[in-house]
Amino acid sequence: MTKKLWEHTGHELAGMVAAGDVSAVEVTDSVIVRMEQVEPDVHAYLTPTAERARADARRIDHAKAAGERLGPLAGVPMTLKDIICTEGVRTSAASKILQNYIPPYSATVAERMAAAGLPLLGKTNLDEFAMGSSTENSAYGPTCNPWDLGRVPGGSSGGSAAAVAAGQAVVGLGTDTGGSIRQPAGLCGVVGLKPTYGLVSRYGLIAFASSLDQAGPITRDVRDAALVLQTIAGHDPKDSTSLPNPVPDYSAKLDEGIDGLKIGVVKQISLQGVSEAVQTRFREAVSILEKLGAQVGEVSLPTFDYGIDIYYLIAPSEASSNLARYEGVRFGLRIDAPDVLSMNSRTRAAGFGAEVKRRIMLGTYCLSAGYYDAYYLKAQKARTLIREDFDRAYKDFDLLISPSSPTTAFAMGEKLQDPLTMYLSDVCNVPTSLAGAAAMSVPCGVSDEDGMPVGIQFMVPALGEVTMLKAAYAFEQELAFDAKPPIWSAS
Ligand code: GLN
Repeated sequence: MTKKLWEHTGHELAGMVAAGDVSAVEVTDSVIVRMEQVEPDVHAYLTPTAERARADARRIDHAKAAGERLGPLAGVPMTLKDIICTEGVRTSAASKILQNYIPPYSATVAERMAAAGLPLLGKTNLDEFAMGSSTENSAYGPTCNPWDLGRVPGGSSGGSAAAVAAGQAVVGLGTDTGGSIRQPAGLCGVVGLKPTYGLVSRYGLIAFASSLDQAGPITRDVRDAALVLQTIAGHDPKDSTSLPNPVPDYSAKLDEGIDGLKIGVVKQISLQGVSEAVQTRFREAVSILEKLGAQVGEVSLPTFDYGIDIYYLIAPSEASSNLARYEGVRFGLRIDAPDVLSMNSRTRAAGFGAEVKRRIMLGTYCLSAGYYDAYYLKAQKARTLIREDFDRAYKDFDLLISPSSPTTAFAMGEKLQDPLTMYLSDVCNVPTSLAGAAAMSVPCGVSDEDGMPVGIQFMVPALGEVTMLKAAYAFEQELAFDAKPPIWSAS
């Protein structure tokens, strides 16, 4: 049976568009029809922008007709997590406080993706302000995992991961502060890459924790992840933390293979409540990497166990400061009151959800006089220890691996009443974020217990993306994982 257009990867579609086999409008229409079919079940989108996507696609077709050379992702319909500002298109961060917010400008990543010719299908769901691991904290209802609609897609970029997994977008952008690209990618059976801090501009991302936030690709294969990263990476004068380094060609070395590469299995992560079913797939992944010629050994990073504790002091502290701007005066929701202070507090009481309030309180507490040294400063010092642990490990290994998540996707509602268990689902992801380094999740099969996808996480030192993509690509090609969620064949 021939594939429908929406079933193809981005590089395949862009190739077809560039060769003139199909038009960008035909590709976009195919994905829009697909969206209409499955969106009522999956609820990946907060604001679909089908007409905008068609107009974007028409522009690509005109450019081609005029003889312009198209980029490697031109004509590939995309989605953006709804925390990425888009000029003229509502950007809510899945919060009531930004319910009617239409940004007057676009994030640099949104601009770069648009300039590369990717039609915008819409803005996808997330945990409010990217705080969560299941997308259940969205003020607009949860997204369902396309592999089992009774389960969560992970989070916070659950909408983007579910959309890409269900065929409702070919590629997407998420953001990752402490796992929010990698964990949902792992739980939805797609590829998700968190770039090195500073490699991708944060300009126009609605800030959660500014020392950790990074935008990155969510795609169906590693080659697409490399191409999307290529599109968004690189210096941006509008972001003072943006790195000046030249951007390498991320696709150039994909085929090089990993013979002789030294890969470390992080001992601590494999001990952290990782389910038997995930461990089984992970062990097989290790054998595949060995078969490909990598030298795999165990490595101990003792401070890993403190990752979650450190993260939940630093991230809420930064969030409490970043979210102070939502006071009902300049933009977003306003609940009127007789005086300004009551207006501020009523607006914030009505506009933020429970998890966001919890983080604001935690963060405000950590930063308050008398507790700053005991909590915030101590967490910053411990953060340095994590980085040093990584530095030591990278003296002996080129890259490190772990499962992407300790379990497969959990049931809707299962962890909602217990924030601490929810926080623990990022145990594999948080350390690399604290170290400012890059990491990605690649599918490594489905669980024998529940048939849900399992992901493997590749971690590299800062700016090690070329090596990471090469290893991920070699692994992906050898595993040849081609299972699809049941909804894939729904028509
Ligand atoms: N799940 C983590 C949290 O709740 C990470 C979120 C993220 O990376 N945006 O903070």
